[in-house]
Amino acid sequence: MSLDTVKVQNIPFQNYNFDEFMAAFEERIDTEQKTFVVTANPELVMAANRDPKYLQILQEADYITPDGIGVVIASKLLKTPLKERVAGFDLMNALLKHAQEKGLKVYLLGAKEKTLEKAYHKMKEQLPELNIVGRHHGYFDISDEQIANEIANLDPDLVFVALGFPKQEYWIHQHLHRFQKGLFMGIGGSFDVWAGEMKRAPQLLINLHMEWLYRLFKQPTRWRRMLVLPQFLLKVMKEGK
Ligand code: UDP
Repeated sequence: MSLDTVKVQNIPFQNYNFDEFMAAFEERIDTEQKTFVVTANPELVMAANRDPKYLQILQEADYITPDGIGVVIASKLLKTPLKERVAGFDLMNALLKHAQEKGLKVYLLGAKEKTLEKAYHKMKEQLPELNIVGRHHGYFDISDEQIANEIANLDPDLVFVALGFPKQEYWIHQHLHRFQKGLFMGIGGSFDVWAGEMKRAPQLLINLHMEWLYRLFKQPTRWRRMLVLPQFLLKVMKEGK
Protein backbone atom coordinates (compact mmCIF):
# COMPACT_ATOMS: atom_id res chain seq x y z
CA MET A 1 0.00 0.00 0.00
CA SER A 2 1.32 3.44 -0.82
CA LEU A 3 1.08 6.40 1.53
CA ASP A 4 -1.08 9.44 0.65
CA THR A 5 1.43 11.90 2.00
CA VAL A 6 5.18 11.44 2.10
CA LYS A 7 7.40 13.65 4.23
CA VAL A 8 10.83 14.58 2.92
CA GLN A 9 12.81 16.90 5.17
CA ASN A 10 9.67 18.22 6.87
CA ILE A 11 7.84 18.88 3.60
CA PRO A 12 4.62 16.87 3.19
CA PHE A 13 4.30 15.80 -0.46
CA GLN A 14 1.08 14.37 -1.88
CA ASN A 15 1.90 10.93 -3.20
CA TYR A 16 -0.04 11.43 -6.43
CA ASN A 17 0.92 10.85 -10.01
CA PHE A 18 0.31 13.55 -12.60
CA ASP A 19 -3.27 12.52 -13.40
CA GLU A 20 -4.20 12.28 -9.73
CA PHE A 21 -2.94 15.83 -9.13
CA MET A 22 -4.91 17.09 -12.13
CA ALA A 23 -8.08 15.30 -10.99
CA ALA A 24 -7.74 16.85 -7.52
CA PHE A 25 -7.13 20.33 -8.93
CA GLU A 26 -10.02 20.15 -11.39
CA GLU A 27 -12.37 19.09 -8.62
CA ARG A 28 -11.25 22.00 -6.42
CA ILE A 29 -11.57 24.47 -9.29
CA ASP A 30 -15.06 23.15 -10.16
CA THR A 31 -16.20 23.55 -6.58
CA GLU A 32 -14.51 26.99 -6.29
CA GLN A 33 -12.32 26.00 -3.35
CA LYS A 34 -9.32 28.21 -2.81
CA THR A 35 -6.21 26.12 -3.42
CA PHE A 36 -2.53 26.80 -2.79
CA VAL A 37 -0.16 24.58 -4.75
CA VAL A 38 3.59 24.39 -4.21
CA THR A 39 5.86 22.65 -6.70
CA ALA A 40 8.92 21.76 -4.67
CA ASN A 41 12.38 20.76 -5.88
CA PRO A 42 15.35 19.95 -3.61
CA GLU A 43 16.53 23.58 -3.64
CA LEU A 44 13.17 24.74 -2.33
CA VAL A 45 13.09 22.00 0.33
CA MET A 46 16.57 23.00 1.52
CA ALA A 47 15.58 26.69 1.60
CA ALA A 48 12.51 25.88 3.67
CA ASN A 49 14.62 24.02 6.21
CA ARG A 50 16.73 27.15 6.70
CA ASP A 51 13.76 29.50 7.04
CA PRO A 52 11.16 28.49 9.65
CA LYS A 53 8.61 31.03 8.38
CA TYR A 54 8.87 29.69 4.84
CA LEU A 55 8.60 26.13 6.13
CA GLN A 56 5.42 27.01 7.98
CA ILE A 57 3.91 28.61 4.88
CA LEU A 58 4.65 25.49 2.85
CA GLN A 59 3.17 23.26 5.52
CA GLU A 60 -0.06 25.24 5.20
CA ALA A 61 -0.28 24.70 1.42
CA ASP A 62 -3.03 22.44 0.10
CA TYR A 63 -0.82 20.45 -2.24
CA ILE A 64 2.92 20.01 -2.62
CA THR A 65 4.15 18.27 -5.76
CA PRO A 66 7.57 16.62 -6.09
CA ASP A 67 9.04 18.80 -8.84
CA GLY A 68 12.48 17.29 -9.10
CA ILE A 69 13.90 13.81 -9.39
CA GLY A 70 15.99 14.55 -6.29
CA VAL A 71 12.83 14.59 -4.16
CA VAL A 72 11.70 11.25 -5.60
CA ILE A 73 15.13 9.70 -4.96
CA ALA A 74 15.04 11.04 -1.39
CA SER A 75 11.60 9.49 -0.82
CA LYS A 76 12.99 6.14 -1.96
CA LEU A 77 15.99 6.44 0.35
CA LEU A 78 13.49 7.02 3.16
CA LYS A 79 11.60 3.84 2.13
CA THR A 80 8.41 5.81 1.49
CA PRO A 81 8.59 6.12 -2.29
CA LEU A 82 6.73 8.88 -4.13
CA LYS A 83 5.03 7.67 -7.31
CA GLU A 84 6.72 10.00 -9.78
CA ARG A 85 8.19 13.40 -10.42
CA VAL A 86 5.40 15.85 -11.23
CA ALA A 87 6.81 18.96 -12.88
CA GLY A 88 5.17 22.30 -12.18
CA PHE A 89 5.62 23.32 -15.80
CA ASP A 90 3.65 20.31 -17.03
CA LEU A 91 0.89 20.85 -14.47
CA MET A 92 0.63 24.49 -15.45
CA ASN A 93 0.25 23.57 -19.11
CA ALA A 94 -2.41 20.96 -18.38
CA LEU A 95 -4.24 23.54 -16.25
CA LEU A 96 -4.06 26.11 -19.06
CA LYS A 97 -5.61 23.58 -21.46
CA HIS A 98 -8.31 22.79 -18.93
CA ALA A 99 -8.92 26.52 -18.45
CA GLN A 100 -9.40 26.99 -22.18
CA GLU A 101 -11.85 24.09 -22.37
CA LYS A 102 -13.89 25.32 -19.42
CA GLY A 103 -13.61 29.06 -20.10
CA LEU A 104 -11.86 29.70 -16.78
CA LYS A 105 -10.25 33.04 -15.94
CA VAL A 106 -6.46 32.99 -15.81
CA TYR A 107 -4.08 35.58 -14.34
CA LEU A 108 -0.33 35.64 -15.03
CA LEU A 109 1.91 37.23 -12.39
CA GLY A 110 5.68 37.46 -12.55
CA ALA A 111 8.82 37.46 -14.72
CA LYS A 112 10.27 40.49 -16.49
CA GLU A 113 7.85 42.71 -18.37
CA LYS A 114 9.17 41.69 -21.82
CA THR A 115 9.34 38.00 -20.95
CA LEU A 116 5.78 38.04 -19.67
CA GLU A 117 4.61 39.86 -22.78
CA LYS A 118 6.22 37.22 -25.01
CA ALA A 119 4.87 34.36 -22.88
CA TYR A 120 1.39 35.89 -23.06
CA HIS A 121 1.47 36.08 -26.86
CA LYS A 122 2.81 32.53 -27.20
CA MET A 123 0.01 31.28 -24.96
CA LYS A 124 -2.58 33.13 -27.02
CA GLU A 125 -1.07 31.61 -30.17
CA GLN A 126 -1.26 28.07 -28.83
CA LEU A 127 -4.47 28.43 -26.85
CA PRO A 128 -6.45 31.07 -28.74
CA GLU A 129 -9.60 30.70 -26.64
CA LEU A 130 -7.76 30.96 -23.33
CA ASN A 131 -9.28 33.69 -21.17
CA ILE A 132 -6.28 35.53 -19.70
CA VAL A 133 -7.92 38.27 -17.66
CA GLY A 134 -4.72 40.07 -16.73
CA ARG A 135 -0.99 40.00 -16.22
CA HIS A 136 1.67 41.88 -14.25
CA HIS A 137 5.45 41.61 -14.23
CA GLY A 138 7.17 40.32 -11.12
CA TYR A 139 9.35 43.22 -10.09
CA PHE A 140 7.41 44.87 -7.31
CA ASP A 141 7.30 44.77 -3.51
CA ILE A 142 5.41 41.61 -2.53
CA SER A 143 3.58 43.58 0.17
CA ASP A 144 2.06 45.84 -2.50
CA GLU A 145 -1.65 45.71 -1.76
CA GLN A 146 -2.82 47.53 -4.84
CA ILE A 147 -1.54 44.89 -7.25
CA ALA A 148 -3.01 42.10 -5.12
CA ASN A 149 -6.37 43.90 -4.87
CA GLU A 150 -6.48 44.52 -8.60
CA ILE A 151 -5.95 40.81 -9.22
CA ALA A 152 -8.54 39.84 -6.60
CA ASN A 153 -11.10 42.15 -8.22
CA LEU A 154 -10.77 40.17 -11.44
CA ASP A 155 -11.88 37.07 -9.51
CA PRO A 156 -9.60 34.66 -11.42
CA ASP A 157 -9.94 30.88 -11.31
CA LEU A 158 -6.23 30.29 -11.80
CA VAL A 159 -3.32 32.49 -10.71
CA PHE A 160 0.16 31.51 -11.86
CA VAL A 161 2.86 33.20 -9.80
CA ALA A 162 6.35 33.30 -11.29
CA LEU A 163 8.47 35.22 -8.79
CA GLY A 164 10.90 32.38 -8.04
CA PHE A 165 10.93 30.75 -4.61
CA PRO A 166 10.48 31.74 -1.81
CA LYS A 167 8.97 35.01 -3.03
CA GLN A 168 6.12 33.41 -4.95
CA GLU A 169 4.95 31.35 -1.98
CA TYR A 170 5.29 34.37 0.33
CA TRP A 171 3.15 36.40 -2.09
CA ILE A 172 0.45 33.71 -2.29
CA HIS A 173 0.40 33.26 1.48
CA GLN A 174 0.20 36.99 2.14
CA HIS A 175 -2.61 37.75 -0.30
CA LEU A 176 -4.74 34.61 -0.46
CA HIS A 177 -7.23 36.07 2.03
CA ARG A 178 -8.29 38.73 -0.51
CA PHE A 179 -9.64 36.11 -2.89
CA GLN A 180 -12.97 34.29 -2.84
CA LYS A 181 -11.75 31.39 -4.96
CA GLY A 182 -8.93 30.34 -7.26
CA LEU A 183 -6.04 27.94 -7.60
CA PHE A 184 -2.69 29.60 -6.88
CA MET A 185 0.53 28.02 -7.99
CA GLY A 186 4.16 29.13 -7.80
CA ILE A 187 5.74 28.28 -11.14
CA GLY A 188 9.32 29.64 -11.00
CA GLY A 189 10.80 30.21 -14.44
CA SER A 190 7.85 28.84 -16.46
CA PHE A 191 7.06 32.13 -18.24
CA ASP A 192 10.70 32.24 -19.36
CA VAL A 193 10.18 28.82 -20.93
CA TRP A 194 6.94 29.94 -22.58
CA ALA A 195 8.69 33.06 -23.87
CA GLY A 196 11.37 30.86 -25.45
CA GLU A 197 14.05 32.49 -23.31
CA MET A 198 14.80 29.31 -21.43
CA LYS A 199 14.46 25.94 -23.12
CA ARG A 200 13.24 22.79 -21.50
CA ALA A 201 15.39 19.71 -21.94
CA PRO A 202 14.59 17.33 -24.81
CA GLN A 203 11.93 14.78 -23.85
CA LEU A 204 14.49 11.96 -23.92
CA LEU A 205 16.53 13.60 -21.17
CA ILE A 206 13.37 14.31 -19.17
CA ASN A 207 12.44 10.62 -19.48
CA LEU A 208 15.91 9.64 -18.33
CA HIS A 209 15.49 11.96 -15.31
CA MET A 210 18.42 14.03 -16.56
CA GLU A 211 16.69 17.39 -17.01
CA TRP A 212 18.88 18.86 -14.27
CA LEU A 213 22.00 18.01 -16.29
CA TYR A 214 20.62 19.83 -19.33
CA ARG A 215 19.84 22.91 -17.22
CA LEU A 216 23.33 22.81 -15.78
CA PHE A 217 24.87 22.97 -19.26
CA LYS A 218 22.48 25.64 -20.49
CA GLN A 219 22.80 27.83 -17.43
CA PRO A 220 26.28 27.20 -16.02
CA THR A 221 25.62 29.93 -13.44
CA ARG A 222 23.27 27.45 -11.79
CA TRP A 223 26.03 25.04 -10.88
CA ARG A 224 26.27 26.41 -7.35
CA ARG A 225 22.55 25.89 -6.91
CA MET A 226 22.86 22.40 -8.40
CA LEU A 227 25.38 21.43 -5.73
CA VAL A 228 22.38 21.47 -3.46
CA LEU A 229 21.30 18.10 -4.84
CA PRO A 230 24.10 15.92 -3.38
CA GLN A 231 23.95 17.98 -0.17
CA PHE A 232 20.22 17.43 -0.03
CA LEU A 233 20.51 13.65 -0.46
CA LEU A 234 23.25 13.46 2.17
CA LYS A 235 21.09 15.42 4.58
CA VAL A 236 18.15 13.10 3.93
CA MET A 237 20.32 10.05 4.57
CA LYS A 238 21.71 11.54 7.78
CA GLU A 239 18.55 13.06 9.22
CA GLY A 240 15.76 11.03 7.69
CA LYS A 241 12.34 12.61 7.22
N1 UDP B 1 11.28 36.91 -10.81
C1 UDP B 1 10.35 37.92 -10.64
N2 UDP B 1 10.53 38.80 -9.61
C2 UDP B 1 11.57 38.72 -8.76
C3 UDP B 1 12.51 37.67 -8.91
C4 UDP B 1 12.32 36.76 -9.96
O1 UDP B 1 9.39 38.02 -11.39
O2 UDP B 1 11.65 39.54 -7.86
C5 UDP B 1 11.08 35.95 -11.91
C6 UDP B 1 12.21 35.79 -12.88
O3 UDP B 1 12.17 36.85 -13.84
C7 UDP B 1 11.90 34.44 -13.48
C8 UDP B 1 11.19 33.71 -12.35
O4 UDP B 1 10.94 34.69 -11.35
O5 UDP B 1 10.97 34.60 -14.53
C9 UDP B 1 11.88 32.53 -11.72
O6 UDP B 1 13.24 32.56 -11.75
P1 UDP B 1 14.15 31.34 -11.34
O7 UDP B 1 14.48 30.51 -12.54
O8 UDP B 1 15.27 31.91 -10.54
O9 UDP B 1 13.18 30.52 -10.34
P2 UDP B 1 13.09 28.99 -9.94
O10 UDP B 1 12.53 28.27 -11.15
O11 UDP B 1 14.45 28.53 -9.56
O12 UDP B 1 12.11 29.07 -8.80
